[in-house]
Amino acid sequence: MPNMQSNKPNPLDMPVTSLAGVGTKVAEQLAQLGIKRLFDLVLHLPRDYEDRSRVVNINTLANGQSALVEGEIVSVDNKGRGGMSVLLEDDTGTVSLRFFKVYRGLTQTMMVGTTLRVFGEVKISRYGVQMHHPEYQVVTAGMTMESTGLQPIYPTVKGLHQNKLRTLVKLALQTVQNYDKQGQILSIFQDTDWQSLDWQTLITQANVQAKVQVSQASFLGYQNNQAQISSTHAISYLSLFEALTLLHTPPNHTDLTNQFELLEQIKNRQHPACQRIIIEELTAHQLSLLYRRQQLHQHKAPKCESSSPLAKHLLDNLPFALTGAQQRVVNEIKNDLTTSIPMLRLVQGDVGAGKTLVAALAACYALDSGWQVAIMAPTEILAEQHLINFKNWFEPLGIGVGWLAGKQKTSERKEALAAISENEVQIVVGTHALFQEQVKFAKLGLAIIDEQHRFGVEQRMALTNKGVANSTPHQLVMTATPIPRTLAMSAYGDMDTSIIDELPPGRTPVKTVTIDRNRRDEVLERIEANCKQGKQAYWVCPLVEESSELDAQSAEATFADVSERLDIRIGLVHGKMKPSEKQTTMQTFKQGDLDLLISTTVIEVGVDVPNASLMVIENAERLGLSQLHQLRGRVGRGSEKSFCVLLYQTPLSETGIERLNVLAKSNDGFVIAQKDLQIRGPGELLGKRQTGNVGYYLSDLTRDELLLTIARALAKRLIQDNSRKADVSLLIERWMPDASKYTNV
Ligand code: ADP
Ligand code: MG
Repeated sequence: MPNMQSNKPNPLDMPVTSLAGVGTKVAEQLAQLGIKRLFDLVLHLPRDYEDRSRVVNINTLANGQSALVEGEIVSVDNKGRGGMSVLLEDDTGTVSLRFFKVYRGLTQTMMVGTTLRVFGEVKISRYGVQMHHPEYQVVTAGMTMESTGLQPIYPTVKGLHQNKLRTLVKLALQTVQNYDKQGQILSIFQDTDWQSLDWQTLITQANVQAKVQVSQASFLGYQNNQAQISSTHAISYLSLFEALTLLHTPPNHTDLTNQFELLEQIKNRQHPACQRIIIEELTAHQLSLLYRRQQLHQHKAPKCESSSPLAKHLLDNLPFALTGAQQRVVNEIKNDLTTSIPMLRLVQGDVGAGKTLVAALAACYALDSGWQVAIMAPTEILAEQHLINFKNWFEPLGIGVGWLAGKQKTSERKEALAAISENEVQIVVGTHALFQEQVKFAKLGLAIIDEQHRFGVEQRMALTNKGVANSTPHQLVMTATPIPRTLAMSAYGDMDTSIIDELPPGRTPVKTVTIDRNRRDEVLERIEANCKQGKQAYWVCPLVEESSELDAQSAEATFADVSERLDIRIGLVHGKMKPSEKQTTMQTFKQGDLDLLISTTVIEVGVDVPNASLMVIENAERLGLSQLHQLRGRVGRGSEKSFCVLLYQTPLSETGIERLNVLAKSNDGFVIAQKDLQIRGPGELLGKRQTGNVGYYLSDLTRDELLLTIARALAKRLIQDNSRKADVSLLIERWMPDASKYTNV
């Protein structure tokens, strides 16, 4: 790549061991902090700053602040068992110094009437204003102040001293500065990049509250929604180096209020220097996604015919019509399939929105043009549901439907593999087994991936590498976890998205209540009474860690217990049962020959029994909100009024109960997902596999929505400009050294 710097090693990428004073031991300690390159070191930002250069009035002390105060000892209490308490007073108030270990020098110093200067972290609680074991000094005539100014305090690990970290960060910053005096490699953005931003549109897109808009806009140096760069605060004038220097060693303000505000802005990541870095980080991530997309678009995909007789047949045979939203999304997919650019489209739709049918219609277009279709689901139960649906829909139309799963007899598997490679089956439904090495498709044209968040990027890519020579299959990805906009942009920024934002008619919202597990017996009685009136119910057992073995045991125990107590017909499904057993039980339940189905969370996705109108979820507090919403989506599919009972284990914190009540209050998957994102973070929401995508140094998707929108705009501009290729690879390499796996940068 034509890159002026490419012949020099980039100092940001050098290992920390290249610094003086970093041997194996320190390197290991740094690694525990996630610091491997100099770049990691300069981005290891202080968690706080301490100021030993001025005395602070006691009445201005804030909790958590490290401060220097000076005052006279007005009382000393050395009687109690809890050590020694010293009350220090200045003109504005008192602070209590607590010493849990009392030694001789301490008792000798702490005398009423002595004037002390102390430094420590302030704790404000119901015990008042305190400092625990502060550093102290007796004030003598003519004593001077330290003049170090603000000192950074870094997050650290045992054995790695603050001073060591301070030295290393300073060294790293110097290395970076020496390497590039002009700030060339450090300021990739140009003035014209910033000027290109359509500020008004970005703010509208980001949909942030008016107050935040104004303050962020002015920090960014833009006023009155015009793309004007103001003098002092314009982030565009800060090089990365300047921004970092400011964050590691903020300037000392003489005015205390200004100082406090500055530090607050830095700690809240609202300061222009932070925003400058966050924008760069987010831009790098967006670039890696856009780059991947650009590469995909250079491949050729199987172009499909724009009319599909199969789709018409399928629709004619349905007992209902498509919803408007389904119709719209099918059209969007059709438009993609009829070009030779590989489709990569994410379809989001709340549980029960009818994604399966949309997938089937997409399949029709590929099938009618002679291509095979693969449908991959994350669990066997879900894949089996798809198998049943697709067999029902397509076998009468003369299309062969094949099956591949992990737990298959060798002979069955061999047969299936042969049928796939010889085009005897045109639709293949399965689990992870689908993207394994031995699976060879005759003519794979469309890969449909249900519940995307359970799969990683690599797995999706493994499946789409199975197209015929020189062809990349179209990809349709479906998810029932509504993904908040910022998260979708950062995790799925390389995809086009469609949203099925309408449920089929006749659905009734599920009434949800939260109940203390102590009242489980009452709930059981109610279930029995309801089932005797012909209703059907699900009972979801507690999740026992990440082990399907233990989950199964817990479900079996619940089954034994409930069977003994209730006089109704009860079935059991869990992940450890044979697929045929599971299938039989599910089928019996669906036919109405079972009243209550006890299960692990395996029924979370895909299971469809319209007559079931009750659901009880045990230990609901252990599950994510989105997952609970998915589970609850199994009921409320018929005309019957439906109920969901969330049983929680006490004691449960107030926020824990409040969290569950989000479900009681809302039936909107997007609202719930947004709360989940706030409470549990992106990793939990998208599943562990995806967290690599969202591991940011500084950025926070819930906080930085506007900055993400800006980053997206900058990334689009950079990727479209061929003269900026070097900048693009520089940014991606700097921020995501592991990204090349996915992007071939
Ligand atoms: P999900 O989006 O959760 O995967 P499904 O595809 O399982 O939802 O659909 C849920 C139920 O809704 C199924 O029983 C399906 O047959 C039914 N369904 C789908 N589309 C419609 C529609 N347009 N009108 C009525 N029922 C529909
Ligand atoms: Mg589904």
